[in-house]
Amino acid sequence: MPIQPILKPGSLKDPSVASLFSTKDPELRFSDLREIGHGSFGAVYFALDKETNENVAIKKMGFSGKQAAERWSDIIKEVGFLKKIRHGNIVEYKACYLKEQTCWLVMEYCIGSAADIVEVHKGPIFEQEIAAICQQALTGLSFIHEIKRIHRDVKAGNILLTDHGVVKLADLGSVSCSSPAQSFVGTPYWMAPEVILAMDEGHYDQRSDIWSFGITCIELAERKPPFFNMNTMSALYHIAQNEPPKLQIKSSTNEAAPWSEKFISFVDQCLRKDPEQRLSTKACLNHPFITDALPPSIILELIRRTKRVVRELDNFQYRKMRKLMYLDE
Ligand code: ATP
Ligand code: MG
Ligand code: MG
Repeated sequence: MPIQPILKPGSLKDPSVASLFSTKDPELRFSDLREIGHGSFGAVYFALDKETNENVAIKKMGFSGKQAAERWSDIIKEVGFLKKIRHGNIVEYKACYLKEQTCWLVMEYCIGSAADIVEVHKGPIFEQEIAAICQQALTGLSFIHEIKRIHRDVKAGNILLTDHGVVKLADLGSVSCSSPAQSFVGTPYWMAPEVILAMDEGHYDQRSDIWSFGITCIELAERKPPFFNMNTMSALYHIAQNEPPKLQIKSSTNEAAPWSEKFISFVDQCLRKDPEQRLSTKACLNHPFITDALPPSIILELIRRTKRVVRELDNFQYRKMRKLMYLDE
């Protein structure tokens, strides 16, 4: 394990740290900030970049208070990693600023996540739409795996869509520096059994992302991951103890057609408890569920359909989903 140097939060003495940040005032460059999401770190905003006249997303990450040192090192890790990589299916880094104990990570703007889309529809989206989202998300994930990293937080909330219908893997704050990894990182309901068990023994590798990917497929098909009605501790117990979850076969009362054999088999092969038995990232990309996916134009149609539903929402619901419409307003 490499020894982590103790970093003084906000200090730019180390040139490799300083090179990550601009110390100019971001308030002068970005205007019209509107909150579009939040997480443990703070919030994400839609904004206008006055320099380029483009819309961007800004993730503001604060590092004052109790766990300042830990948060600062997480910020350096996330920014450092995102800045280094460039891939058509990974959210694009644009700039990074430091202002008053807050890091402003500026990224390309996406209209929302795959989780937002299923939330709007309050029911399953079409299998072909799921396949097209999965195909692009997997292409981004396989890039991360090729450079020997583990994403560690694969879920529909971290799969974003641009207004042009391109799928982008996001939230690289949990990416591992080394593989195999040992620490307990991720979001409980999507965690692979071996990641949960790595709390006290063993290691895990890229294949734990494939488990989370299988759970994400269930989430896209059924709106929530398995055990979502349980508290997180019970869910972790059930993931580790139970047989792997499966896609629910739609009942005959459901008007939509049942899931295809290839979708069921794809999910089944991602959700093997023994990582050795799981599809590898390459094998996922070669599975018929993915290779038969329709061209990305189907995602544009999904976005159009989703916006139509949002327009019809009542006031309260509309406010929640309004971010999907910012580019159309
Ligand atoms: P988590 O709680 O999942 O760990 P996080 O705190 O690390 O999340 P992100 O997942 O990076 O934060 O961002 C939180 C939310 O903000 C996302 O789920 C998404 O809805 C929104 N978001 C993040 N980045 C963008 C972007 N580039 N464009 C549009 N929305 C974004
Ligand atoms: Mg996230
Ligand atoms: Mg995160």
